[in-house]
Amino acid sequence: MDDTNAAIRSVLIVGGGTAGWMTAAALSHALGERCQITLVESDEIGTVGVGEATIPPIRLFNDTLGIAEADFLRETKGSFKLGIEFVDWAKLGHRYFHPFGTFGKPFDLVAVHQHWLAARAAGSTIPLDDLSMAWAAASRGRFAAPMTDPRSVASTFDYAYHFDAGLYAAFLRRYAEARGVSRVEGRVGDVALHGETGHVAHVGLRDGRRIDADFFVDCSGFRGLLIEGALATGYEDWAHWLPCDRAVAVPCATGGDGMTPYTRSTARAAGWQWRIPLQHRTGNGYVYCSRHISDDEATATLMANLDGEALSEPRLLRFTTGRRRTFWNRNVIAIGLASGFMEPLESTSIHLIQTGIAKLLAYFPTRDFSPLLIDEYNRVAITEYERIRDFLILHYKLTSRDDAPLWRDCAAMTIPDTLALKIAHFRQGGRLIARDMDLFGPASWLAVHIGQLNHPLGSDPLLDSSKAAAASTTFIGRLSEAMATMARSMPTHESYLQRLTRSM
Ligand code: FAD
Repeated sequence: MDDTNAAIRSVLIVGGGTAGWMTAAALSHALGERCQITLVESDEIGTVGVGEATIPPIRLFNDTLGIAEADFLRETKGSFKLGIEFVDWAKLGHRYFHPFGTFGKPFDLVAVHQHWLAARAAGSTIPLDDLSMAWAAASRGRFAAPMTDPRSVASTFDYAYHFDAGLYAAFLRRYAEARGVSRVEGRVGDVALHGETGHVAHVGLRDGRRIDADFFVDCSGFRGLLIEGALATGYEDWAHWLPCDRAVAVPCATGGDGMTPYTRSTARAAGWQWRIPLQHRTGNGYVYCSRHISDDEATATLMANLDGEALSEPRLLRFTTGRRRTFWNRNVIAIGLASGFMEPLESTSIHLIQTGIAKLLAYFPTRDFSPLLIDEYNRVAITEYERIRDFLILHYKLTSRDDAPLWRDCAAMTIPDTLALKIAHFRQGGRLIARDMDLFGPASWLAVHIGQLNHPLGSDPLLDSSKAAAASTTFIGRLSEAMATMARSMPTHESYLQRLTRSM
């Protein structure tokens, strides 16, 4: 075999945040002894320290690694998440839920929401949320794993977790080190490139040590030490669509509504505030646009809107929404915040780490670093980013708030054509058109369209309007009642969690 086609012998992961340790765990699981995996991280620099809400595919990541749910939740002090409640986003005093799962189950050729719209036009006041099993459980503080019997309404929802990302990284560190990953503590000072190829040859630590590798994974966070610092890959700035550029975060004692099995996002004058309940505390943060509010004002707003006593000093984070121009450049692949950041509104960052790792394994290179693999990785990753970007912009664009400059700017902004087309289809006839590689499916788009008050002007012509209203009203009434009854039979979130985490 030609030497240039030889297998990768060593991988260096730069950075030990959630991205670094998820990558180390997955690579050690997949590659075993075949390749020397090293991770370098700096205790002095630390990690971003936030990132607590996820979406359902995280369960696949843990399952693939053989991590039991009970162990995971115990070690990360995690809780269950059935979706996100959006408060004051469409207009002040209004709320809606983006559930994991679907809205009911289709009972004929016509989508459930078309029946809901017909019933609504005929005077029904049942909110769309009430056709979601996830909300039926979440709003009552209940949780149980979904049923597999497709005839049951309890098979129509899905779930993810809230967890302490620092504890998750520590848990995965133990997992990876037990499978042969070497950890080096130290601060990367310089990065040396091969003269001929421009590939990264080694990184130098400030104390003089040097680490060579065939392949480098840049998990160094916003800094992008290799992908940007050494290779100057470039960054596509999306601040004109996703204007928030700072966050202030603080944990507090759990009070208020308690350990809700859902995240809450409350729109504020210059951004929005998250509330994420864990077993031992509640995570909070105000994500805001620095053009519209000062750091001090944002901090004061956050501190005035906590459920319980703050457990530490508030922490300020700065970011620019967007993505690297390419995610894989020469022998460096960027995963995590080093690859870009689209703000935490729909909890997609840890998911993008997961899909980055999945693609890395699917296109794992040899030492010739075939451009075919690199181009495909970048094509898929860029599409994934753009699909998520459009879904996030939807929340801002569809606001009816006019009480603050941020919201007026968002309602008036020009949006990507891909998103404009989706909005136009929904507005015209309630149609949810899909794009390849959409992460969020029709139910998610429906929740946000309706939640943000983008009601369709027309209905599906397949719906027989002469019979529809009465049949639809009966149908959705029964559906919401069946879901409420099912939810009442579920254990409380706390008791389900306690039973599970004490079970082993
Ligand atoms: P970091 O955590 O920044 O880790 C970088 C690592 O690189 C650290 O170990 C650091 O020590 C190391 N490093 C850097 N420079 C050097 C150097 N010179 N030498 C050696 N080591 C170095 N995601 C979600 O999925 N859900 C959420 O709810 C969510 N909320 C968020 C809220 C906010 C405000 C922000 C900013 C992000 C949020 N995220 C969320 C994103 C999430 O926090 C990150 O995706 C995740 O933590 C991964 O970060 P990371 O590992 O890429 O970077």
